[in-house]
Amino acid sequence: MRIIILGGGFCGTIIAKKLEKQKTLDIVIIDKKEYFEYSPSLWKLLLKPLQYEKYIVPFAQFLNHSRIITDPVLQVTPKFVETEKEKLTFDYLVISTGIEYPIFLDNTQNVFTIKSGFEVLQNSKKIVNAKSILIIGGGLIGTEIAGELATKSPEKQIIMVHPHDRLLERKTKSASRYAKKYLDKRGVQIIFGEKVVDYQNGIFITNLKRTIKADVGIWCAGIKSDPWFMKEFPPSIFTELNTLKVNQSLQLENHPNIFVGGDITNVLEEKTAANAKRHGSFIVMNILRSMKQKQLIVYKPRKGLMIISLGRWDGILMFGKFLFPGFIPAMIKLIIEKVGIKRL
Ligand SMILES: Cc1cc2nc3c(=O)[nH]c(=O)nc-3n(C[C@H](O)[C@H](O)[C@H](O)COP(=O)(O)OP(=O)(O)OC[C@H]3O[C@@H](n4cnc5c(N)ncnc54)[C@H](O)[C@@H]3O)c2cc1C
Repeated sequence: MRIIILGGGFCGTIIAKKLEKQKTLDIVIIDKKEYFEYSPSLWKLLLKPLQYEKYIVPFAQFLNHSRIITDPVLQVTPKFVETEKEKLTFDYLVISTGIEYPIFLDNTQNVFTIKSGFEVLQNSKKIVNAKSILIIGGGLIGTEIAGELATKSPEKQIIMVHPHDRLLERKTKSASRYAKKYLDKRGVQIIFGEKVVDYQNGIFITNLKRTIKADVGIWCAGIKSDPWFMKEFPPSIFTELNTLKVNQSLQLENHPNIFVGGDITNVLEEKTAANAKRHGSFIVMNILRSMKQKQLIVYKPRKGLMIISLGRWDGILMFGKFLFPGFIPAMIKLIIEKVGIKRL
């Protein structure tokens, strides 16, 4: 019985690891990289690129019985998966290729995202040398990056542009207030209610025609699902946002032998590593149940605990309306990172 897992991020790796316990299965994991990357901490490399190896773990180090294919996926159909080098059929397929972090500007010369360690490494020199940095977007990632840069390189001018009237707008107002106070105190200039729409000759331009001079821009403004390799599937499996429609058992709509997990699903919950891992564990249970022709279990989205760091020693723990800021959340986040990487 062959199970192919596309994407070795938070969702895909947990699936491969758990399925390996079933010794008879033929497990194939396909990823364009040969390692797992701990994306929630990649922004730490902006100022310390040499620590990159702390945040990656080769698949071969923790997957013992899976076949690892390091190759970009080119095409997925209901029957087979094709990469540059291989074409494989499957009994079960899991799609967990995550989400894109596109930059919506024509000129991206000194603007980048923190999607992969490779991108951060390519640009960290610019960050280290920059006197002024513009952070575009004040959601979870933008706020964490502002906290990191403002604490660790106070000599730099840090500016943020956020289209909403408060940071972390999907979280409680008290979380927004705490983050703003923290950043205000460290001299971060925050511009609310505007969007960066253009970048020319080192000048960023907002929708209200404000001009902002900054040496570098870090784009943290939005995500985009783009499963372009699934053209053979009917349009009904894609949502308007191009995420993949799953049923309550996390099966791709009308495709019972294809499961989908992590950021690429249309499940209504925050796109987090913790949720991606939860999808992974859940998918394993349902694949095993499906093999035994047992009834599948129903996934219930939930409001998970969320922690953001503000520099090394401060952070905000959020759980629904509950807020716990300060030193302890920062330490919990650090422990989650260490344990998460070590337990792979
Ligand atoms: C800067 C940053 C900070 C974050 N901070 C937090 C945080 O503090 N807490 C939190 O819970 N979450 C955080 N997140 C979100 C979290 O990282 C994601 O929710 C999580 O990684 C989603 O897991 P996934 O398995 O769906 O996808 P991913 O972990 O993105 O894995 C997808 C995998 O698929 C592979 N892939 C993609 N396309 C192809 C292809 N065509 N061919 C082959 N392989 C492919 C990729 O190489 C990757 O390994 C952060 C994300 C970023 C970028």
